[in-house]
Amino acid sequence: MPEMPEVEGLVEYLRGRVTGLHVTKATVSAISALKTYDPPLTALVGTAVTGVERHGKFLDVATDGGIHLVFHLAKAGWLRWYDLLPQTLIKPGKTPIALRVGFDDDSGFDLTEAGTKKSLAVYIVRDPQEVPGIARLGPDPLSGGIDRDAFGALLAGRRTQIKGVLRDQSIIGGVGNAYSDEILHAAKMSPYALAAKLTDDEVDRLFDAMVSTLTDAVAAARGKPPADLKDAKRRGMRVHGRRGEACPVCGDEVRSVFFADNSLEYCPTCQTGGKLLADRRLSRLLK
Ligand SMILES: [Zn+2]
Repeated sequence: MPEMPEVEGLVEYLRGRVTGLHVTKATVSAISALKTYDPPLTALVGTAVTGVERHGKFLDVATDGGIHLVFHLAKAGWLRWYDLLPQTLIKPGKTPIALRVGFDDDSGFDLTEAGTKKSLAVYIVRDPQEVPGIARLGPDPLSGGIDRDAFGALLAGRRTQIKGVLRDQSIIGGVGNAYSDEILHAAKMSPYALAAKLTDDEVDRLFDAMVSTLTDAVAAARGKPPADLKDAKRRGMRVHGRRGEACPVCGDEVRSVFFADNSLEYCPTCQTGGKLLADRRLSRLLK
């Protein structure tokens, strides 16, 4: 799943490519992906792009028609850019392409979604705040949205595990499963630590880890074409998705905890004082 740094990379790429261009085509082939009906998708055609912004993990293409094309790539969605948009007919139901947008210099992009569980979401709105997922977003960890004290205030009183707090879009916008693993590893903190119980020093460490991890990842994503962003993300990961590999900091083996539909990774030596975290899936079976 693309998270804030990849979405930021896509936003910067699109901004450089499409600002000032007119939309000549907007077709949806996966009807379920389009979450709004008024204004219609066709209202985009003929408008000029005035800017591209990010809200959490949402991309927002603004046009001079006062209409925004907003989308969220979810778990298996991606953007495929074309300098020359194919003219082939898209057959609904037989393609990973959910949405195709073309511009007046013959360029364009597809939003694609792999897999059977479709959750890519497209919204045509007059104001991005009409998108429920944007309206309830917490502050952005970069772009000056949050400082150390505001971060501490967000954690205070939350008797929930820090891993879940970091991923909760209504608390902090843009961090998902992968970067929360990376942030906790950089902060040398257990994913199961309770947010409310962190000491001031731990909050300092976590805040610094969050800002530096995301800043580095955004820098790594910057200037890369969409096709390269996924690999860049994978390469930058120290523990996430690296179960069984050696921790780059201490050499211990990176471990996983499995949940119903995902997993988290951590280094026992760096993060839990050498203790192995219980595998939730397994311990449930053993009960
Ligand atoms: Zn380690």
